[in-house]
Amino acid sequence: MIKVLIVGAGIAGPTLAYWLQRAGYEPTLVERSPEPRRGGYIVDFWGAGFDVADRMGIAAEVIRRGYHMREVRQVGDDGHRITAFDPELFVRSTSGRYVSIPRSELAATIYDALGGRVETIFGDSVRALDDDDARVRVTFESGTVRDFDLVVGADGLHSQVRRLVFGPDAQFEKYLGITVAAFDLPGYRPRNELGPVMYTNVGYQVTRLSLHDDVTMFLFTVADDGSIAAHDAEAQQAALRARLAGAGWETPRILERMGDAQTFYCDRVSQIQMPSWTRGRVALLGDAAACVSLLAGQGSALAMVEAYVLAADLARAHGNHVQAFARYEHLLMPFLRSKQKAAIRLAPAFAPRNRTQLFVRNSVMKLFNLPFVAKLAMGNSLRDAIELPAPAAPAAAAAA
Ligand SMILES: Cc1cc2nc3c(=O)[nH]c(=O)nc-3n(C[C@H](O)[C@H](O)[C@H](O)COP(=O)(O)OP(=O)(O)OC[C@H]3O[C@@H](n4cnc5c(N)ncnc54)[C@H](O)[C@@H]3O)c2cc1C
Repeated sequence: MIKVLIVGAGIAGPTLAYWLQRAGYEPTLVERSPEPRRGGYIVDFWGAGFDVADRMGIAAEVIRRGYHMREVRQVGDDGHRITAFDPELFVRSTSGRYVSIPRSELAATIYDALGGRVETIFGDSVRALDDDDARVRVTFESGTVRDFDLVVGADGLHSQVRRLVFGPDAQFEKYLGITVAAFDLPGYRPRNELGPVMYTNVGYQVTRLSLHDDVTMFLFTVADDGSIAAHDAEAQQAALRARLAGAGWETPRILERMGDAQTFYCDRVSQIQMPSWTRGRVALLGDAAACVSLLAGQGSALAMVEAYVLAADLARAHGNHVQAFARYEHLLMPFLRSKQKAAIRLAPAFAPRNRTQLFVRNSVMKLFNLPFVAKLAMGNSLRDAIELPAPAAPAAAAAA
């Protein structure tokens, strides 16, 4: 059996493991965290990735675990409502194939679909990869050494596999000029059930989102030179407090409580742009290969698409990874590039650079009140211009 080491058990990794295992491969997942990561931010999930979830038989579970928002509200300095729209229009435009779900819940749903059939090593990572053209000798952080036929890096934006095989982050990371912070607090008041509330000003946006179990999630997107995220959590929080000092709405109260966060995430909003995602017997997947950033609102779904296509191509090529990797890149690189370009255009919506951008942003949001305008504007962008290949046939690789 063809042995594949998949580094990273987030969204892309377990999706690949699912399809490879089904095709008769022997995948192994290695995940740096000691256990599946919990909490964190909410992702919107739709498009071709939803179709992949459907083909895995988990779409209903994703919808069940998700949130079905009733209103997206924009407020001013004193909390007055500037405008609001009904996100149900996204759900209707996609015939119900659109849901907001905590990233960790989506990851858990995918992982559960493996049914315990895939070896998973938690709390470890890869230290060295030696590809001698016949196999990849992997040295784990724990010191264990094992051989695999293929290695796939699904280890996110700051991929270790990418660093080891393709070179330093700086070669591929395009910083988009925004820092994001996401954190959750128990017992915060007020709450708006099933309704994100956004406060946007020149240079930043603060979003509050009420979750189940009396938890509230907050999202800051702040125009920045990239320095805020370069420190530890305490220094990041201090920098955010300084950066958002004087901001209106509930921001001072939120900043005051930020230190009590159950989980705290802060990072540069970047894309990964590479001329190639594969080298020898190693391939990259998901954010590690082509992070579109949170601005796209679709990175998870795209990570699943990439995993599905790579598995289908490997199965179709009967284990000929050279052929499979070429097909994988040929189908997906132009698609991902167009997603990245579209995401960059949305940056002013998350952290307007000046009053004009703020005015345009709020005006567009007001137009979303008019269902026919919203449908016209969103209709096409909610459909992915990609035809998924047939799924990896269960017996294909076993015959290889
Ligand atoms: C604030 C925010 C909001 C977002 N909103 C959306 C949205 O609305 N819709 C959407 O679709 N996407 C959204 N995204 C993007 C989405 O979360 C990512 O695109 C998606 O998670 C990518 O999946 P992945 O599996 O490639 O990487 P990840 O989900 O990042 O998973 C990588 C995994 O690899 C592990 N790992 C990392 N390094 C190593 C290592 N060295 N060794 C072993 N394991 C390692 C990590 O612990 C993690 O489990 C958002 C992102 C952010 C930050």
